[in-house]
Amino acid sequence: MLSNSGVDELFIYQDMRRGMKRKLFIVFVALFLTLLFFLALSDRGTTRLYKELETLRFNFSRLLGDCETVPRKPDLPVIYAITPTYARPVQKAELTRLSHTFRLVPALHWIIVEDASKPSALVGKLVNKSGIPHTILTAPTPKEWKLREKDPNWKKPRGVLQRNRALQWLRENLKPKDKAVIYFADDDNVYSLELFDEMRWTKGVSVWPVGLVGGLLVERPILNPKTGRVTGWNAAWRPERPFPIDMAGFAISAPLLLSRPNAKFSLTSDRGFQESHLLQALTTRDKLEPRADRCTKVYVWHTRTESPKLNAELARRKAKKNMNDEIEV
Ligand code: UDP
Ligand code: MN
Repeated sequence: MLSNSGVDELFIYQDMRRGMKRKLFIVFVALFLTLLFFLALSDRGTTRLYKELETLRFNFSRLLGDCETVPRKPDLPVIYAITPTYARPVQKAELTRLSHTFRLVPALHWIIVEDASKPSALVGKLVNKSGIPHTILTAPTPKEWKLREKDPNWKKPRGVLQRNRALQWLRENLKPKDKAVIYFADDDNVYSLELFDEMRWTKGVSVWPVGLVGGLLVERPILNPKTGRVTGWNAAWRPERPFPIDMAGFAISAPLLLSRPNAKFSLTSDRGFQESHLLQALTTRDKLEPRADRCTKVYVWHTRTESPKLNAELARRKAKKNMNDEIEV
């Protein structure tokens, strides 16, 4: 049995506990409000926090192998990357490398245009597996415009009708005010992730250096150091071209493309003039938007993959023996 004083002590003890709980609660709320206050004060802080969270979410989805959840912030302009591609022994290797780069780029829509009359199972499976938002189109190059096996690759233009098919699709599917950027990403180049951050906010046409092209280590726009505008180019091959720049060296804003319905590539452009042909219909040199740290950084390389020697494979095919037919390479 408790004495009266014992009951009193219990009440006092319970009161103290309640008081302490209340104090702890007040301290906690105060701390929380202070934190909110500081976060709200610093707009940059919240943006940074948001970005950190996005990155965390992105990395988590990567870890879980859940490709569909690549963050697509609604206010981030979508990059439409156009890739012409054709069936050859290295095609799957090239597209695997490219898809693994694109999987790391948020808000990217991949437009793959097969140089064929109908879509192939190989490309379809690979692209679906990548989880990248995409559209697969086809545009066969007529036989007379195809390179023959022994032809040097500059003899005929490559990827022309495929890129035009993609431009047509964009004109049919985008609205004039859509925030989006268009980039021509051949399947054999090497792309650094910074490149996509650079091009995403293009207003008209943006430009940057391209490594390993035109007989140089790097072909790049030259800027006026005071104005930061493009005044010329350091190209060595046909520097008199209106835009001596590689296909991988520029991006176009979607509203600009949609406002120029005649801008496209041509099979009959002179060798090396594809880029100039398109860009002349879109912009002028003084309007170009230099990127990549005032065109001092290389974020894309015009690499080329050697054709593998497959003599033994061909011999087996002729003999109809051990042809590796059952395995997709
Ligand atoms: N390409 C194509 N059909 C062809 C040859 C090339 O669709 O008959 C594609 C190729 O996959 C690449 C782009 O067009 O994405 C440019 O071709 P390539 O890389 O051979 O040209 P280069 O590197 O000489 O500019
Ligand atoms: Mn190439």
